Amino acid sequence: MFKDLLKEMEKLKKTSFSVPIEIDEKGYLDRQCPSEECLFQFKVNQDDWSEICKDEAIWCPLCRHEAPSDHWYTLEHIEHGKSEAMAVLEGRIHNAMKSGAQKFNRSQSKNSFISMSLEVKGGKKRTHVIPARAAEEMQLDIQCEACMTRFAVIGSAYFCPACGHNSVLQTYSDSLRKIRAKKNNVETVREALTSSVGKDDAELTCRSLIETCISDGVVAFQKYCEGLYAPFGPAPRNAFQRLKHGSDLWFKAVQKKYDDWLSPDELLGLAVLFQKRHILAHNEGIVDADYLKKSGDTVYREGQRIVVSERDINDLLSALDKLGNGLKAACQSIED
Ligand SMILES: [Zn+2]
Ligand SMILES: [Zn+2]
Repeated sequence: MFKDLLKEMEKLKKTSFSVPIEIDEKGYLDRQCPSEECLFQFKVNQDDWSEICKDEAIWCPLCRHEAPSDHWYTLEHIEHGKSEAMAVLEGRIHNAMKSGAQKFNRSQSKNSFISMSLEVKGGKKRTHVIPARAAEEMQLDIQCEACMTRFAVIGSAYFCPACGHNSVLQTYSDSLRKIRAKKNNVETVREALTSSVGKDDAELTCRSLIETCISDGVVAFQKYCEGLYAPFGPAPRNAFQRLKHGSDLWFKAVQKKYDDWLSPDELLGLAVLFQKRHILAHNEGIVDADYLKKSGDTVYREGQRIVVSERDINDLLSALDKLGNGLKAACQSIED
C-alpha cells in the first residue's frame, strides 16, 4: 500500500524546484542587497539583468556591496520559495498516499472475514509552484551612463548594479533632491513632533534639519566638483569648499568662472552661505571676526548666532543648480 508513496519519495530525492519570479509592469525585476547591514531593495530592468549584468558580480546601488548574481533574491523571494517548495512537497506526498490508499482499498476482497479500508482525508492537492509576485513599481528610474543598465530605486542610489559605476551627476542631483525634500518637509516634521514629543524638541529638530541643508549642499558641491575635475588633474585639498579658489581652478580647466553662471548678488549670497556652513561646523554657529571678514555679511555682529532661513536654502539650491548645470556643460564641451 505504500508503493506509490515510496516511488514518489524516490522521485522527490532527484527533484529540484524552481520558483519563477514575476516582473513588474515596467519589466523590472526585484533585487535586494544581501549585506545584512544594508538589505537595500531595488529593481533592475529584466533585459539588462540578463544581457548586461554579469554572473560574477553585481553591486548594491546604495552601499556598493559586491556579490555573484545569484545572491540578490529578495528576502520575500526566499521566503516565498521555501513555502512553495513545502507546499509542492506536501501536495505530492499527500497525492501519493491518497492513490496508494485507493489502490489498497480496491485490492481488498469483498468476501473476506475482516475487511480493512484506508482513508486519506482531503481532495488532491496542488503540486505546481506559484510564481513570486513583483513588488510595487519604484519611482526613481536611473540609467547608468557607463553601461546603460536601467534600474529603479526608492530615494537615491550611488552605484550602478551592473558595473559599480558611481555617477557624479546622479549623486549631485540626488543630493540636491534630498536637500529640497528636507526643506519641503520641515513643517510636516514639526507638526508630527509637536504633537508627539512637544514644542521644544520639535523646534530643535527642525532647526537642525534646516541647518544641515547648508552643509549637505556645500559637501555635495565639493564632491561634484572633485569628480568632474578629476580629468584635469588633482585639485588641492578642499579647494572646492572655497568659492574663489574653486572658480579659479575651473577657469584654468574650462575657461569659465562661477560668475559666468551667477549674478554678482547670487555669488555674494552663496559666499555668505558657504561661510555660514563653516561657522556652523567649527564654531557652533557663533559669529566671529573671521566670519564677518570672509563673508561680508553685514546682518550680524560678533558674538551673535547665525540663523538659517528657508530662503537661505532656496538661494543655495538655486545657485548650486546653476553652477552644476554650467559646469556639466562646460566639461562636456571640452570633451567634444
Ligand atoms: Zn547594500
Ligand atoms: Zn553601469
